[in-house]
Amino acid sequence: MDIKVIEQMVEQALKELKTEQTQRFSLSRPENYGIFETMDEAIDASEEAQKKLLHSKLDHRQRYVEAIRSAVLKRENLELISRLSVDETEMGCYEHKLIKNRLAAERTPGTEDLATEAVTGDRGLTLVEYCPFGVIGAITPTTNPTETIINNSISMIAGGNTVVFSPHPRAKRVSQTLVKLLNKELMDAGAPANLITMVEEPSIENTNKLIENPKIRLLVATGGPSIVKKVLSCGKKAVGAGAGNPPVVVDETADIEKAAMDIVAGCSFDNNVPCIAEKEVFAVDSICDHLIHYMKRNGAYEMRDEALIQKLIALVTTEKGGPETSFVGKSAEYILKRLGITVDNSVKVIIMEVPKDHLLVQEELMMPILPIVRVSDVDTAIEYAHEAEHGNRHTAMMHSKNIEKLSKMAKVMETTIFVKNAPSYAGIGVGGEGFTTFTIAGPTGEGLTSARSFCRKRRCVMADVFSIR
Ligand code: NAD
Repeated sequence: MDIKVIEQMVEQALKELKTEQTQRFSLSRPENYGIFETMDEAIDASEEAQKKLLHSKLDHRQRYVEAIRSAVLKRENLELISRLSVDETEMGCYEHKLIKNRLAAERTPGTEDLATEAVTGDRGLTLVEYCPFGVIGAITPTTNPTETIINNSISMIAGGNTVVFSPHPRAKRVSQTLVKLLNKELMDAGAPANLITMVEEPSIENTNKLIENPKIRLLVATGGPSIVKKVLSCGKKAVGAGAGNPPVVVDETADIEKAAMDIVAGCSFDNNVPCIAEKEVFAVDSICDHLIHYMKRNGAYEMRDEALIQKLIALVTTEKGGPETSFVGKSAEYILKRLGITVDNSVKVIIMEVPKDHLLVQEELMMPILPIVRVSDVDTAIEYAHEAEHGNRHTAMMHSKNIEKLSKMAKVMETTIFVKNAPSYAGIGVGGEGFTTFTIAGPTGEGLTSARSFCRKRRCVMADVFSIR
């Protein structure tokens, strides 16, 4: 073969290779399945996708919602993301992740959430509709990494938005796996590429870029106080879903055996990482021993030795008094083993009696450690519960049959979720009515978020006609 022809062939091959490399992260190549090298690229791709989504029919959006549901509910995917989540973050419990991921896929509302308001009269017809913001920047926690991505993606896409996620760096692999498989399923369902995007290397720096980028029209932060404060002070519209420290009050009228079972079940669910999970108990003196007795019958391990409680605190908290990350979301069995105590996995929570100002009461630890404060009467219990919640106005529980005291606590606490006579998770639709969310926006007031929480209300007026009354 002529040397010139060979040279031309090599040149052509090199050119193609170069083009392929430069296109590897470019917007037009769907094979990235939403993963980009830089935050700007992830946002640009999202903006391009949102322009397409804006003009798609509601029917199509609902089809995309169903595609997300079906991607997550495929057994191999559900098992993969649940397993990866526990392996990578080293938090929570695989069996409970399966339940939470399924819940997010099945019970997050779709486009039906976008109810139109209509006003008609002699001057015509006025509609108020929930419309997209555009590109949303969503920051997600380590504690519910996949649940939040599934839940936010369904809500935001149903609302006509696209979403750029900034997951916690400690959950990057599982978040990427999920984003890729969701985009693949979405594209198979005919959706534009990149409805959901993120960067290859999530970091605080990349989150800052997300917050600052002018193409991001709405920020949604699900996490602790630092990130919620940051998005709320950035000058853009933001939805903040922050920390909690949910107290439980048990009074003398409660069904004590059921209360004990419910509290242990809620507190131990996913090893206590849910922000809604029971974190401390205030029990009226006359039933406190009974409550502890039934808690022990239902999987609680009681610590009575003060020296052991101090050893536990030294193990699971930092010098500043916050949770030691390596113990967040660990099982009671694991924590006890580190203290030289061997139990089997029927032990779900560690309980101890402490005074109300105790560190274990006041700090949100996200571990199955449940301090119990004995109080003289229900009014004191409510007062202490209010103090321990620190004005987060997140979640609280009460076990009682006294409707006046139930009503009093609901009012005093002002929490986004108040659960009566059930485990905390009844508040997100498990064993209680109502839809599911993993972004509970207390500070900014959207409450349990759904598609409409991520939409702008717009008015559309037709003067003089279309009132048919
Ligand atoms: P976290 O605050 O450490 O991290 C949350 C997210 O914010 C992560 O993506 C992290 O990378 C980012 N982040 C944190 N500080 C930042 C900063 N200064 N600048 C930029 N990015 C920052 O929280 P976590 O440990 O992952 O999650 C647990 C916390 O989240 C708990 O306080 C829990 O109560 C809360 N939470 C709340 C809800 C809710 O719906 N209200 C849901 C889940 C978790």
